[in-house]
Amino acid sequence: MKQRLALVLILGLGIASLVVVQRRHEHATASANAVINMVADAQRDTLRAPLQLTRLSDDEETRIGDDLADHYAMVFRADRVSDDDAINRDVQRIGGRLAAHANRKLQYRFHLIRDKNFLNAFALPGGHVFIGLGLIEIMNTEDELASVLGHELEHIDHYHCVERVQLEAQMRKLQLGVVGDLVQLPLTIFEAGYSKDQEAEADREGILLAVAGGYSPYGAVSMFEKFARLHHDTTTQPNSPPEELSQLALETLAGYFRSHPRPEERLAQAKQVIREHRLTSQTAQTPLPSSSKS
Ligand SMILES: [Zn+2]
Repeated sequence: MKQRLALVLILGLGIASLVVVQRRHEHATASANAVINMVADAQRDTLRAPLQLTRLSDDEETRIGDDLADHYAMVFRADRVSDDDAINRDVQRIGGRLAAHANRKLQYRFHLIRDKNFLNAFALPGGHVFIGLGLIEIMNTEDELASVLGHELEHIDHYHCVERVQLEAQMRKLQLGVVGDLVQLPLTIFEAGYSKDQEAEADREGILLAVAGGYSPYGAVSMFEKFARLHHDTTTQPNSPPEELSQLALETLAGYFRSHPRPEERLAQAKQVIREHRLTSQTAQTPLPSSSKS
């Protein structure tokens, strides 16, 4: 009898702590989203101002990026289960193929955020790309994953990320050279997106990078078509979530939509890039091995 009571107690405690962990995490994701939405609007105005920034050396940028990546990885630590699963292997493999063709010779690293409710991706200076499991779960092909990783990689390759850090440090009076000072920068500034011109550049260059890595440019087309449909569904029927997405997933997706140009504009530009670079024959996409839907 005593043993059974002890077992029930242990089970109860286990379940209670699971619930606490889950709640805490959901709260963190939800409040981060509210901030992303506000920051996204504020950033757009700030970024219209002309910048006078001194270019940092690659070494300096890498040091800053590594510090930030270590710091932000802790935010998502609760979701890390194993470094060796199929989806993570796909992310590393496809990311590696793209990174080999980037203009800047940095040490590019890809981090999977194991959160089904995180439908977003972002890049940090020095070569760090983060992508949420939720975003990968709405993909069907390697080419779609390549289009998203390629877009983020180009934000690094074209100095968008490091300029964002320099600008934020200037505005917040933080010292770039002081270890620990920059980790005060909230993650949201990287998730909030960049100027419209920078987003368009990352889309164009990301498509060409994906092609250089051996992927179809139509991965970007099918991804933007998917975003356009989700954007339409989430704005016209907010009460019937498409693709069985949770409320929290829908919120992160809304944050993504607010921080990027309209999917229709991105789709139109992607088709134009494909025409201009005579890539119309490269339509074949490869099913994503880790995707259950492919
Ligand atoms: Zn972007």
